[in-house]
Amino acid sequence: MTKKICVVKGDDASPEVVVPTVQIIEGMGLDIEFLWSVTGDEAVTRYGENCPRVAKEIIDEADCAIFGSTRTLGGVHGYLRWGKKCYANIRPTRYVSGMITPLKDPTGIDFVIVRENLEGLYPGWEGDIGQLTSLNLRNERINQALDTSAEGKFAVKITTEEATKDICRVACQLALKRKANGGLGKVTVSSKYNVLIQSDEMFRRIAEETVGEYPGLTFHQFIIDNFAQQLVLNPKQFDVVVMSNEHGDILADGAAALVGGLGIVPNSCIGKDYAYFGSVHGTAPDIVGRDIINPTAMLLAGGLMLEYLGFGEAACRLETAVYRVYREGKCLTHDQGGTSSTTRFCQAVKANL
Ligand code: ATP
Repeated sequence: MTKKICVVKGDDASPEVVVPTVQIIEGMGLDIEFLWSVTGDEAVTRYGENCPRVAKEIIDEADCAIFGSTRTLGGVHGYLRWGKKCYANIRPTRYVSGMITPLKDPTGIDFVIVRENLEGLYPGWEGDIGQLTSLNLRNERINQALDTSAEGKFAVKITTEEATKDICRVACQLALKRKANGGLGKVTVSSKYNVLIQSDEMFRRIAEETVGEYPGLTFHQFIIDNFAQQLVLNPKQFDVVVMSNEHGDILADGAAALVGGLGIVPNSCIGKDYAYFGSVHGTAPDIVGRDIINPTAMLLAGGLMLEYLGFGEAACRLETAVYRVYREGKCLTHDQGGTSSTTRFCQAVKANL
């Protein structure tokens, strides 16, 4: 049966990577139909809102979406993420020969950050500190009651057992799959469990318990600040890393820098019934319209999407075609020390397919 992919072009420079990625996949002769949605600025002009009903209908009709980053977390991004409950954000960090990185020896870096995508701090449950008065919050460890008389804001971090279990299962299943292909069979959890002794410690504990249910996997843990250090000192030790929403967001950008920066790392957001695929990077507004944005992250996201839809062989072909451009080193974009335009990079990928 024909697979349907909704295209969300995204804001600023995002369409400059989404459109050529769609064109390249269209040229691969697969049983896929692309459905173009009108969202973002274009939708605001035409319909008065970022994610109008017509766009939601197209998203709903599709099997998944290819997603260009948007300026806000609301609108179409909010609909895909929270509306479609895409709870597992998977960010593979892999060095391939030819990528320009700040490391002396990046060979062998190959790990995945599995980030909880719906909870933590990012739903943005915020308000005025005074609203917390009736809770009478008291912390016995530091022998302090929360002073709610100050002018200011609070943000709530939510960690449920169910969502933590779900994301830890995703991490374990991915580690098993990678192990079958020569991976290390390691799941590492990282959170601030020494300070947030209820919420982040629960996240750590559930990760440990879940890994224990999967024979063949080993469990590892790092306090998040130490993880940041380990990421720089010895990134090759990692296989699958599971983290909360905000920790995964921040450290995945750091991880991207190890293998050549934000232009390289793709991103898949998977739910029980839906998924969307894009880049770790944002909308890159500073380089909009210059035909210099690196399309690698979006092209690799296209590969993840093809795999999700069951086109495993095509996914492999696309990924190999992208990596060959790096190995050849003739058509790299500016962020990778080259002089190629986005268009030329994509032509090289097409030629390699
Ligand atoms: P967000 O918070 O939305 O993830 P961000 O703060 O990570 O966004 P980006 O839009 O990702 O910001 O851009 C950060 C910097 O990296 C900018 O200078 C941008 O031009 C650059 N950049 C991001 N993606 C790419 C890319 N694909 N190719 C080249 N440069 C990029």
